[in-house]
Amino acid sequence: MSYQQETNFIHQGADPDPSTGATQPPIYQTASFAHDDPQQLEDVFNGKAFGYYYSRVSNPTIDALEKRITGIEQAIGSVVVSSGMAAIANTVLSLATSGDTIVVGKSLFGSTYYLFEGLIEDSGITVKFVDSANSVEFENAIDNKTKLIFVEAIGNPKLDIPDLKKLSDIANKQGIPLVVDSTFATPYLLDAKSCGVHILVYATTKYIAGSGSTIGGVIVDTGLMNWKSYQTKKIQEASKQYGQFAFLSVAKKVRSNAGSSQSPFNAYLTSLGIDTLALRVKQQVANATALASFFEEHAAIKVNYPGLTSHPQHNLAKQQLKGFGTIITLRLGSKEKAFKVLKKLKLVHNLVNLGDAKTVAVYPATTIYRNLTEKQREEAGVYPDLIRISVGLEHPSDIIADFKQALEGLS
Ligand SMILES: *Cc1c(COP(=O)(O)O)cnc(C)c1O
Repeated sequence: MSYQQETNFIHQGADPDPSTGATQPPIYQTASFAHDDPQQLEDVFNGKAFGYYYSRVSNPTIDALEKRITGIEQAIGSVVVSSGMAAIANTVLSLATSGDTIVVGKSLFGSTYYLFEGLIEDSGITVKFVDSANSVEFENAIDNKTKLIFVEAIGNPKLDIPDLKKLSDIANKQGIPLVVDSTFATPYLLDAKSCGVHILVYATTKYIAGSGSTIGGVIVDTGLMNWKSYQTKKIQEASKQYGQFAFLSVAKKVRSNAGSSQSPFNAYLTSLGIDTLALRVKQQVANATALASFFEEHAAIKVNYPGLTSHPQHNLAKQQLKGFGTIITLRLGSKEKAFKVLKKLKLVHNLVNLGDAKTVAVYPATTIYRNLTEKQREEAGVYPDLIRISVGLEHPSDIIADFKQALEGLS
């Protein structure tokens, strides 16, 4: 029987714990797992028997979360890692190596930008930054060393929308995966598989956990990539043993070797969050829509939200997403004015995270994006008078009233 998304999120892959019947995943808070027979441990190590031996490598609470995420994406598998950044780093390091190139949409979360410009470039991988909303630039930047395309489903904080179907076609022509950071779009707003996305990454820290309770990340293989024809040594070797699960096996090895495993307690909190994901995102989108309309009426500010017809990719967003997201940015005229508004907010907290149950606002230019040059900031849509708002779950009239009093007197 096929169910609606809301139902799937709660039930898919959420089977009771096999050994105890517990309906919430037990927190297996242990470093290692005992085996009576040394032969059994040897078999587990060699993949001849199923089991656990060390939580950096695998853990039942982590497995339970992976099953749920795989289920809600209708994917072939997932790798849960310690953070959203670990998900991106592990994905790139699983696919590319020194001498390779990757093509990246430059509208990026600050730390992702630092990762690509720093660690990834330092390890000999050339990163070609292109305009996220311009598919032709991606196509032109691809060369015979390119191992992947990377883009954010909704750019942070520029809020530009890449054409995923076009990018998927370009990737398929080249035999490389389209990797999408769908943190902002969430599994509820973007059906990544139907857009041809090969690999998804999420900072589960944000909407999936939902209450700002923990840091976490996940890598998802949608099953659309034919790994047999993907020309890297690591994947080719893995493909002989694991077939279509080649990428997942390499990503798990990178997780284990780089030590980017997630704590079972964090996985438990994230799993709880999934139960209410659809409900939360639906309400947050409705609140964001109401707030964006309120801002649009205000003459002294420039509002950016994909749900407004003034947004350059509004029509594409409408086709590609089930809702326009929960992030709004405002340009207030100057840094001084932006600080004044942030200081006057009473209900809305000045926090750097997003996707929280609480509405939060931040001045990104000298915080999250402080290490970018002015030109890089401009290209990433981080203007010196910009604030970013992540709309929460409070009653929309209370959120609007707080901004109304904070904006009073702004000209
Ligand atoms: C927050 C965020 C990340 C990084 O996630 P962490 O869990 O903080 O490491 C990556 N991508 C996007 C779009 C984000 O918003």
